[in-house]
Parts: sequence; structure tokens; C-alpha cells
Amino acid sequence: MPFRGRLAPTPTGLLHVGHAQTFALAAARASGAGLVMRIEDLDRDRCRPEYAAAALEDLRWLGLEWTEGPDIGGPHAPYEQSRRGRWFLDVWRRLEAAGAIYPSPHSRRDVELAATAPHDGPQASAEPIFPPALRPSAWDRAGAPGGVAWRFRVPDGRVLAFEDGRLGRVHRTAGVDFGDFVVWRRDDLAAYELAVVADDHAMEIEEVVRGEDLLTSTARQLLLYESLGWKPPRWFHAPLVTDAAGQRLAKRTGGLAIRDLRARGCSPADVRAGRAE
Ligand code: GLU
Repeated sequence: MPFRGRLAPTPTGLLHVGHAQTFALAAARASGAGLVMRIEDLDRDRCRPEYAAAALEDLRWLGLEWTEGPDIGGPHAPYEQSRRGRWFLDVWRRLEAAGAIYPSPHSRRDVELAATAPHDGPQASAEPIFPPALRPSAWDRAGAPGGVAWRFRVPDGRVLAFEDGRLGRVHRTAGVDFGDFVVWRRDDLAAYELAVVADDHAMEIEEVVRGEDLLTSTARQLLLYESLGWKPPRWFHAPLVTDAAGQRLAKRTGGLAIRDLRARGCSPADVRAGRAE
């Protein structure tokens, strides 16, 4: 401690008390080592600049201080993923050259129909596992992704284990807990798993602090780091915050948006600590 870290909000809605706690933890663990603010606004249909601006304002009100970001600049600019497409394409090319990914014309619906349900347990709510039968046996090498989704071919049966700063040893099994995942979308945008690995590497992030809903993504991302020959960061997955009914907080925040709490007179310290109901 400390480790260079990042805050990576997706501007599809207002940040809520769960984000406040995770981001406060990320800022505390990075304190003194550098903290990047990165706006994950790849999904053009769902992201809005107003939400990005609101996120910066809310997090500043909370008292979090980042050292690089869209409002500050720095050596790793730009800090909006919507402006980093060339870098993501470069990473796509490396994965393609490594033979790690393949074009996958199947729609979400095809996959749902053909998929086996993920096993019960922590992953019960995960997406259906991509059926290996839908993997192509051959395809044309391509210089660009070009209007079709691309998936990472996972090594079926391999256990991906990692050390989490809060949870200790965590493992996930490829082909069981998750299947071949999308790295490039049909609408010619990098998918989350590729973009986050590309940027955490480029921005020299030493520890990724985020919600524990992303534990399985960490296993996927370890496969990307390996294929790219990059050293993965450390991991720290924070507990998820639930509302009074025990439901995970989502974009519809039910009055638990940081700015609602602020308007109701809560202090930044209370919101950071989750004492804000
Ligand atoms: N932008 C992602 C989210 O808001 C965070 C991804 C990450 O921390 O890796 O869920």
C-alpha cells in the first residue's frame, strides 16, 4: 500500500451510495500513489455527457481527489474511452494476431437458445455460457473487426485463480463459470473486457478496486492479460451495497443517488461510509 489506482464510472446514470463506497475505498488505497479518473463511455446509446459531468461533481463533493483525468489531463490522456478507439483497435489486432479471438456472427438470441445454463452458486445470475458448438472451425484472417462481433476463445476446464485483496484466493473455471466472451462488438466498438484491460495496462494501474459483481470478469481479464503478454494488476473487489429490500443498487437508485443524499443534508463522510439511509 498504496497502489496506483483508478476510478472508472460508466456514465449511464447517477452515481449512488454503492459507487460512493467503492470509489472512496479505491481512492484511499491509491492515496499517494496516483489515481486515474477514467470515463467508461463506450456505449454510445446508453452513456450521456451529463452523467459524466455529474459523476465528476459528485465524487469531488465526496472529497475524492484524482491526479489524472478528463478534467485535469495527464500523460495518459484522453481519459474518455469513447476517444480511445485507436488504442482498442491496436489491442484487437494483437489478440487477432495471437489467434486468441474469432469472429462470431451469432446473435444474443442464438446464444440463449443454444446455451447451457450456468451452474448454480455465485454465478447463478451470469449470462448463459456460449456453446462451444457455435465456435467456427475456420475463418478468414481479418485486418479489422468489420461489422461482426469477435469472441475470445476460453480454455475449457482451466481454473483461473487469483488473489483478491479482500476475499483471498478466488477461482473461476473457464467453460463452466463463463464461456467465450465478446471482445469486439458487432457495432464496431470495443467491448468492456477488452477496453478495461487495454486501459488498465496503458494507464499503468497497479491495483483495480471495484465491486465484487465483477469477480468473473477478473477471470476473463486474466486470460486477456496472458494472451497479450502483459502483467496483470492486483485486485480488490469491494462488497456490493444493497437497498432496504436487499436488492442490489442499480442505475435506478431509489433515492440513494449521491446527489439525493446531498440534497437531504447528508455529509460527504456519511455517504462515503454508507451511513446515509
Ligand atoms: N465502468 C465499470 C462499471 O462502472 C467498472 C469497470 C471496472 O472497474 O473494471 O461497472
